[in-house]
Amino acid sequence: MSNWPAVVIPVTDLQLPKLRIKTTLGEFQSATGDNRFSMYVCGITPYDATHLGHAATYLTFDLINRYLQLSGVEVTFVENITDIDDPLFERAKRDNQSWSELGDSQVALFESDMTALRVLPPKAYVSVTQAMISIISAIEKLVATGYTYELAGNVYFRIAQFLPNLAELSLSQEEALTIFSERGGDPERPGKENALDPILWVANKDGEPGWKSKMGFGRPGWHIECSVIALQNLVGVDYLVHKRDVQHEIDLQGGGSDLIFPHHFMTAAIAQALTGNNFSQSYIHAAMVGLDGEKMSKSKGNLVLVSNLLKAGSDPMVIRHALLSESYSVDRMWHMNTLSKSQERVTKLRSALARVEVAPTDQVIMSIAASIANDLNTPAALEILDDWALQTQNGLLGGSVGEISRFIDAALGLAL
Ligand code: ZN
Repeated sequence: MSNWPAVVIPVTDLQLPKLRIKTTLGEFQSATGDNRFSMYVCGITPYDATHLGHAATYLTFDLINRYLQLSGVEVTFVENITDIDDPLFERAKRDNQSWSELGDSQVALFESDMTALRVLPPKAYVSVTQAMISIISAIEKLVATGYTYELAGNVYFRIAQFLPNLAELSLSQEEALTIFSERGGDPERPGKENALDPILWVANKDGEPGWKSKMGFGRPGWHIECSVIALQNLVGVDYLVHKRDVQHEIDLQGGGSDLIFPHHFMTAAIAQALTGNNFSQSYIHAAMVGLDGEKMSKSKGNLVLVSNLLKAGSDPMVIRHALLSESYSVDRMWHMNTLSKSQERVTKLRSALARVEVAPTDQVIMSIAASIANDLNTPAALEILDDWALQTQNGLLGGSVGEISRFIDAALGLAL
């Protein structure tokens, strides 16, 4: 797949505090002495490009990526594109369009949104169609090792042995079943060994693309794509050879909080069945963005698309500021005035940054860094910037405008 242009992070020689983030299962801390970090973030299903919830999620992992790079860590960031999936095929059919053209057009839109928002591109940006040979090999291996069973040409993964892990997510099997059904699962299909078994291989249906495999002509289900794309690009080509080895784990899997279950649970279980190892050291999930008191969703038709905001003339840095103005980890609402509030704050910041003489900056930079390091507390970081702009407006002197401008560009992605 193509990729969006690289963003150059200005170099700083600051000693930054250690990054600490509350993860879904505990706490993440950037390790001292380990200079490499592997991060896999679940990408879009390209049928309705970037709404604000997507943007908030990708900005969360962009902050982590930027902060670790600024701390001298070599980050390998991989993202997928779910270009084979039921919702994409359904949308293409509804609109009488080819699924691949719809996918390509939405991927292009997503890339231009990411570019406008100054999100650092992944090192590998891999679609399911690109990874098809590896995905098929992985399913064939799972079939050969007894992790699967067949049902009318479809192949299911036996999840039973992994279900005790639901306790870590504080989910009962009943709750899991409800969510599974809402998020693409088929718990009621007759003949399944366990209602929560996810589908690995879908027998070909009319109008859908298909690939040849030992399982018959068909296409993969959702979760296995991420297990395979992550392992192949972050662990290495020999990931299918079982070795008890911590090097076989990735450092972080991320995505929106709607992926905690079933997607990330299933991805981890399938990866563990493939490699014999734990899949990821940590999981971080970005909270949801709603609109005016309601959940934002495709079914409600109230999605706010980044591309529409840009088309209507919004400044991408103001959109980025608005998304950073609330915590990544708490569900939040987007309102009509969210952008105008950020517009006002960005205007004040730009006016301060345009001055030759500015208020002291050293302490401001370190306080912003400490806020980001403290569970990505961007609301606090932006308030520190507001205070600095006010001090500058009030005539305080002694800072370096170049240093603060470079730092907020590098760490917050705000090129103002
Ligand atoms: Zn995924």
